[in-house]
Amino acid sequence: MDKKLNNLILVLNCGSSSIKFAILNPDNEKKYLSGLVECLFLSETYIKWECLGIKYKKKIGSHIGHENALNFIIDQVLSEQQDILKNVIGIGHRVVHGGIKIKKSMLIDKNVIKNIQDAVSFAPLHNPVNLIGIKILIENYTSLSKKNVAVFDTSFYQKMPETSFLYAIPYNFYTKHGIRRYGAHGTSHQYVAHKISVILNKKFSSLNIITCHLGNGASISAICKGICVDTSMGLTPLEGLVMGTRSGDIDPSIIFFMNKQLNMSIDEIQMILTKKSGLLGLSGISSDFRYFEKNYNFKNNAKRSVDIFCHRLSKYIAAYTTLMENRLDALIFTGGIGENVPLIRELTLDRLSLLNFKINIELNFSTIGGRSGLISTCTSRPVFVIATDEELAIAKETINIIRK
Ligand code: ADP
Repeated sequence: MDKKLNNLILVLNCGSSSIKFAILNPDNEKKYLSGLVECLFLSETYIKWECLGIKYKKKIGSHIGHENALNFIIDQVLSEQQDILKNVIGIGHRVVHGGIKIKKSMLIDKNVIKNIQDAVSFAPLHNPVNLIGIKILIENYTSLSKKNVAVFDTSFYQKMPETSFLYAIPYNFYTKHGIRRYGAHGTSHQYVAHKISVILNKKFSSLNIITCHLGNGASISAICKGICVDTSMGLTPLEGLVMGTRSGDIDPSIIFFMNKQLNMSIDEIQMILTKKSGLLGLSGISSDFRYFEKNYNFKNNAKRSVDIFCHRLSKYIAAYTTLMENRLDALIFTGGIGENVPLIRELTLDRLSLLNFKINIELNFSTIGGRSGLISTCTSRPVFVIATDEELAIAKETINIIRK
């Protein structure tokens, strides 16, 4: 065991259908433990984890929810690693929505919990499960005096101008009810932005970039002079790009049509737009990008879904170039799809040739599996793949808050 093992942070990232966790040292970036629970609520819920170089995989059970999965992580994974656990000084919780009041990461207290609760309607799939994670970890580890910190996806977007964050609806919906664009995935966009500033040897405060986080959830951010000036996710993480099961942008009248003409309840419509749409809805088969990559040239449903995904993404990229004040330092792809699917990057950049984006086929195909690097030709605007690490970003933020 590492003799300098101290100041470790446990990170918990509770998603709607998965839970990611890790224990790491944010100073030297060494990861001691990392894991993932997949397929919550499905017929077979699995957990995979890696600790000190050894990999484990187990089936937890059937139709397992967040509470049972978290108890499994605590009882069967973390409790087996007391040497590591006793050096954990803080727990960083990813929280998707900070709501109207919370603008930055915070030590968790009753007031912070109330604010996360108040923002449930802005992130109905995420904030409730973030709260379950906070409650269970506080219950289990308070006696070990580990400090709990909430790191919000929405913090990165606090400086957006009102031209980007206001919707063209009566202004008092913003002033009275907080209806505005809040954004999400901020931790990942900010992390890759910092990485590219190092790669390009450019001060963060002078960086002009467009970042595409393409995972099960997908979003794009425009960052000008180091400040996020627009992003595709809105009041909730439902707006914007085509996602695994979320529709992204639609005409709001579709909701009225479903409700009035098809007699669907608001709850049913919400379920369809959040869980049955996106790639899953378009293909009728899957939300897993491996299916689309494999079948793009062979099956209509795969081609249709991928083409719509890239069409929407390239439209956003083109629009966001208008926010770059005449200089774009880099376009960045990240997230499970952004990092691993050359097809998406190629089809998207092909649509942007007028703006002088040109893919280097060889670099594109060799930059997969968590590798970062340039994927454009030498005459193109620079396009990079940067592997994201939300757990590391959350751990760094958590220790900063604890040290303050
Ligand atoms: P999230 O964090 O939003 O749950 P991820 O960033 O892990 O999502 O991305 C999940 C998506 O990435 C899924 O659609 C998955 O199929 C896709 N993906 C991950 N790895 C690969 C790969 N090697 N090849 C193709 N698709 C991949």
